[in-house]
Parts: sequence; structure tokens; C-alpha cells
Amino acid sequence: MSGTDKLLKLSTQQFVEFLKEKNIFRFYFAYDPNSRKVKSSHPQLESIARFIENDTRDFLQHEGLFFQITKKFNILQGAFVHRTKRGQAAGGVRYWHYETLEDYIRDGLRLSKGMTRKNALAGLWWGGGKGVMAENPEVDKSDPEIRKYLYQEYGAFISTLKGCYVTAEDVGTHVSDMANVFSRTRFTTCIPEEWGGSGNPSVPTAQGVVAGMEAALEFLKLGDLQGKVIAVQGMGNVGGPLIKFLFEKKVKKVIAADVFSEMIEMRKKEFAGKPLEARVTGKKDLSLFREECDIFSPNATGAVLNPDTIPLLKAKIVCGAANNQLEDAARDDLSLFKANIVYVPDFLTNRMGIVNAANEQYGYVNNDPLFERHLQKTWQHSIHQTTLKVLTESRATSEPTAKIAMKTADTLSLELHPLFGHRGQLIIDSLISEQWHKG
Ligand code: NAD
Repeated sequence: MSGTDKLLKLSTQQFVEFLKEKNIFRFYFAYDPNSRKVKSSHPQLESIARFIENDTRDFLQHEGLFFQITKKFNILQGAFVHRTKRGQAAGGVRYWHYETLEDYIRDGLRLSKGMTRKNALAGLWWGGGKGVMAENPEVDKSDPEIRKYLYQEYGAFISTLKGCYVTAEDVGTHVSDMANVFSRTRFTTCIPEEWGGSGNPSVPTAQGVVAGMEAALEFLKLGDLQGKVIAVQGMGNVGGPLIKFLFEKKVKKVIAADVFSEMIEMRKKEFAGKPLEARVTGKKDLSLFREECDIFSPNATGAVLNPDTIPLLKAKIVCGAANNQLEDAARDDLSLFKANIVYVPDFLTNRMGIVNAANEQYGYVNNDPLFERHLQKTWQHSIHQTTLKVLTESRATSEPTAKIAMKTADTLSLELHPLFGHRGQLIIDSLISEQWHKG
């Protein structure tokens, strides 16, 4: 095995042990646009820098990746800063299990790049980044005292990065954790509502999905949602309000499925008297995909659009909030396109979570125009306009929709913040010249 393989194939905990043996508690990898090389803070980690630099799948000239090991509990914590041209890198912190160091690094690279695209396509003056904390199987992640320590440590870590990355809530992280992050850094959003945070983003997220559906229907000249049949996968925080909005739009029927029978019962009560056909599904049950419907809406987990499910779809449109719906972005995007199914890319239509939280520090106004414009039809970066633009270009170029949306987002992500320019890169440069890793 080469040096690269050896380190990357270690479990995240074996890697932590390796670092401790070498007396490394903080480390970074940073891209140098001049030499086009990735620099590492430590010669012992050079092979990882080469792996990142040569990776064509997930690496896209990420400006800086920063890591620490917590003093207690040996948790690997990271901040992946992808691009800061539109502003500070913004994106949530995920607390998740990874089999290997490679899985961990790949997830951070992929997710941070995704946030750049989501934020840019939304016209937000934010760059893209993501936090990732690797679970240590020996640590009880449900213990509130341990969580308090880990998230406070994460907050302190974020403070050391001087604002090139602004963190938020993500999978495995709760609002109570964000309160602990906030106790150690100002560079966070999604703090509790009573402390000035923006609160639950799920309702706005569902509104965004409705906006995407309406734009796709308009594009196909199929009118509006009235009288349509919608299949909704997942009836949780987003799926529930989505069903409510669909009934407000007078759809003919919602066919919905969830893996939790309690969720089904709750929603059946909530929508009593409405045309809702709800059923419990198994994780491998594909019957919802076969339903005769106008729109299929994934609001549960990722990777649900794949070679097993796409051929079953009878819907003309796929539009939902779930992140990373395409199991293989290029392959499944193309399959949907070839099947003549209009796919509204998830990172376009599920933006309202980050829109809701990103500008918390600027305060709140009723019916906030800076928020509402994302849901209205006229603003150039609204979900409606962006969806129409992407679908129109897809038809004109015969290229699938997610590919078009990514290209559009990548172009927007290169625009410089009108006041602060590429300040994130300056911050990263200063961290490196001050030898941040020795702090
Ligand atoms: P949630 O956990 O509240 O709801 C998901 C629901 O899906 C749960 O009720 C779960 O039982 C169900 N489910 C899981 N697997 C299923 C399956 N195979 N078939 C049917 N149902 C299944 O999560 P949420 O907050 O509603 O988010 C849903 C999706 O949208 C996630 O992928 C999330 O990452 C994404 N998203 C959410 C927001 C937000 O504001 N909440 C924002 C952007 C993206």
C-alpha cells in the first residue's frame, strides 16, 4: 500500500491515534492558486494533500480545510472551506459516522462544494463551506454533557478560523448543540430562537419546494398545482408542511409514504377530511415510485433517484427537499433527462433552510422582502426564475438539469462580494502565515 492509501484507509479513530503519536492536534490543507498545489501543514500529512490535489471527483480547488482533535474524547473536527468569493463560507456542521478517513474527507469536500452551489444559485452573498465531526464509536453521542463539551470545542475551533467559515446546524446536530457552539464563537447561525436565532427552517423549505413545483409545471405548460396528484416521500418536518401547502393549492390528491407508522397516524389526523392517501413503507419498498402522479417529491433521504427507481417513475416532474437525491449525480441526472422527466435539482429548490438562517445577524422584519423574494416569481434569483432558467437551458442544450444548475451556480460562485471581495482567502492566507496549526 502506498503512503496515501495507508492513511486514507485508516478509520477516523485510527487516524486520530496516528496524529496523537506525531503530536499533531491541529492541521490544515490549503490550495495555492498560483502553483495549483495543495499545501499541508505537516510533512507527515503530505500524502493526504496529494490525494486531495489529484482527486477529480470531490475536490474543486477548495480554499482551505482545517482540522483539530478535541482534547477530551478524541473527536476529529473539521471545517471545509470551499469558496469564499461571494462571502464567508457558510454551511452546517454534520456529526456523522465515517468508515475511513477517505470517506470523511470526501464527504466534507462534496458537501462544502454543494453549499457553494446552493448559496450562489440562491443569489446569497455567502460562499460555501461545511463542518464535519467524525463520530468516535467509543463516545456516547447521546450524553448531553459530552455533546456540550464537543460543540463548545467546535465553537472555539471556529473562532480560531477568524470568520472564513460560518457554521450552522446540519445532520446529527441540534439547536441545543448550536447554543453550545454559540457560547464559543460569533461565527455561527441556527442558534436558539430565544437568543435571536431564526428558528425552524422546515416550513420555508417546504414553501421553496412548492415554488419549484409551480415553476416546473409552468415550464411544461401544465398549469398550476390545482387538480394535480403528488406523491410525497417522507412526511417529517418538511413533508408535513409541504402536504399542507399542497392542499392549500387545491391538489386533487396527495399519495404519501413514511417509514414511521406514528408519523402516518399524526399526519392522517392533521389532514383529516383531505384527499390524503398515506401509508407505511419499508426502506426497500418502491411502490410509491410506481404511483400514477404528476409530481414525485422526495423529502426523506438521499440517493433515492437511481437505476432501480427512475425506470419506475410515472411522474412528469421530480421536485423535493431531500439533499443529494441523485445516487450518482451525472448518471442519474442524465437518466431522468432521457426519460423525459423534469428534475428540479434539490440544491435549487431546498435552499430556504440556508436562506432562513444565513442572514440571522441582520435582524428580522415581518414579511421580510429579502426572504420573500426567493419565493416570488419576479426576482432574478428566485426559485421560480432560477428553475425556469435551468429548465429552459436544459431543453435548449439537451443537457440534464442538475448539470446546467451546477454550471450556472459555479459561474455565480466566482462573483466577488460587492463590499468584502475575496476576504475569505485573505483570512486563510493570514491563518497560514501565522502558523495557525501551532496554536
Ligand atoms: P425529517 O427527519 O423530519 O423527515 C424525514 C422523514 O422521512 C421522516 O419522517 C422519516 O421517517 C421518513 N423516511 C425516512 N426514510 C424513508 C423512506 N425510505 N421512505 C419514506 N419515508 C422515509 O427530515 P426533514 O427535516 O423533513 O428533511 C427531509 C429531507 O430534506 C432531508 O433529506 C433533509 O436533509 C432535507 N432538507 C431539509 C431542510 C429543512 O429545512 N428541514 C432543508 C434542506 C434540506
